Amino acid sequence: MAEIGRSIVKMDVDDLLNLLNKALADEWLAYYQYWIGAKVVKGPMKDAVIAELTLHATEELTHAELLATRIVQLGGTPVLSPDKWSEITNCGYDAPEDPYVEIVLDQNIKGEQCAIRTYSKLLDITREADPVTYNIILQIITDEVEHEEDLAALKEDLELMLMRRK
Ligand code: FE
Ligand code: FE
Ligand code: MG
Repeated sequence: MAEIGRSIVKMDVDDLLNLLNKALADEWLAYYQYWIGAKVVKGPMKDAVIAELTLHATEELTHAELLATRIVQLGGTPVLSPDKWSEITNCGYDAPEDPYVEIVLDQNIKGEQCAIRTYSKLLDITREADPVTYNIILQIITDEVEHEEDLAALKEDLELMLMRRK
């Protein structure tokens, strides 16, 4: 554990660890939602959507890596069992039971919007109290904003294409 590194955190470290573990659960669920979505998605523009979902999956995994590393640095234990993910998640999990592209895009847009709100709160909490965690969350939220935009752009392309066909 980074003893001095931990001592400079100006908030309750257990509260912070709790928030970081909730975000870690979100990232694993987001990873799987993208990963499995890319496997089952069907409909127009499927190839472009699969490419984006697959890339986002890998980026969510990178976020999980950043969070778990920070949790260990602070002397915490990253959530050890997948059973816990759905218990502690902020943003939940939307199974792509209907594999139509537009539905899958909407589910993931909803997930990104929740992630952005969650990380925005974490930025507020850590801004003064823990600049090291703040910096990590800033990297992550920058990706989440890009993710929302990428999915919204795909949805717009899809809608334009379907409109032209009528
Ligand atoms: Fe993420
Ligand atoms: Fe994301
Ligand atoms: Mg992207």
